[in-house]
Amino acid sequence: MSQKIALVTGGNKGIGFAIVRALCKELQNGIVYLTSRNEERGKAAVEELKKEGLNPHFHQLDIDSSESIDRLRDFLKSTHGGLDILVNNAAIAFKQKDTTSFDVQAKVSIATNYTATLNVCHALFPLMRSHGRVCHVASMSGPRVYKKLSPKLQEAFKQAKTEDDVNKLMADFVASAEKGTLSEERWVQNAYGTSKAGVITITRIQAAAISADTSRQDILINCCCPGYVDTDMTSHKGTKTPDEGAITPVYCALLPSAGPNGKHLSNKSVVETW
Ligand code: NDP
Repeated sequence: MSQKIALVTGGNKGIGFAIVRALCKELQNGIVYLTSRNEERGKAAVEELKKEGLNPHFHQLDIDSSESIDRLRDFLKSTHGGLDILVNNAAIAFKQKDTTSFDVQAKVSIATNYTATLNVCHALFPLMRSHGRVCHVASMSGPRVYKKLSPKLQEAFKQAKTEDDVNKLMADFVASAEKGTLSEERWVQNAYGTSKAGVITITRIQAAAISADTSRQDILINCCCPGYVDTDMTSHKGTKTPDEGAITPVYCALLPSAGPNGKHLSNKSVVETW
């Protein structure tokens, strides 16, 4: 079997770190890249896994930086000629007690969790080989936000057919937060959940697009919720360990050919979205 090349964003801690650990165990013959925006934290994480007898490789990646994304793309292309598994795990969440104004929270959350994730896809999808697997780590907060949107906005999410359609929804949300018209337009004041609703919507569109690409076969793109996990993001209130949180993302990263495509999964099962 050919050597699989896997890559995890935001791998230096939390669920991303646990995903790297699990993929290293699963892909005995493969290479797993633990990427991190901060080189020191990333390399320290690699050393920690080496102490467990695992052998992840390190590459710097700040998903908010197009230069960083391009450097990684060029490195993967010249070193491996392609990519087999991509786990888009990196994301941010403002704490409830954070006093940053909501318009800024909206802009920053959409920029990292949605737009930067999409930018990674734009750079790395052309490298994905046949039988490749992509997993975006989304969240059930996406469907929770969706349920509270106006029927008109729900319909817009449901009907989104292109990346531009989703980009427009995300931009409208940020603009509405900036104008202070969120409740009037019946958006939900939840920047994180809205960004994840965007990720879930784009997953369906990306999966359809890549399936139509006849130059490559059997590439599956899904997203998933890891559950409520004990990490810095949840101020360690989550009930699952990071290793437990990694189970569904890793399941999506290793799906067999008959697996779901363009879906949102939780506890290794497809959840209904829109
Ligand atoms: P953490 O905050 O513990 O870890 C987030 C990781 O993302 C860190 O490695 C962080 O790097 C990295 N990151 C943030 N911004 C960037 C960036 N611009 N470029 C590269 N890396 C970045 O979060 P979790 O482990 O809890 O979350 C992982 C994923 O799971 C996220 O997508 C999150 O939304 C999702 N999720 C988590 C849940 C939970 O209960 N924990 C529930 C549902 C979904 P750094 O250390 O440098 O900040």
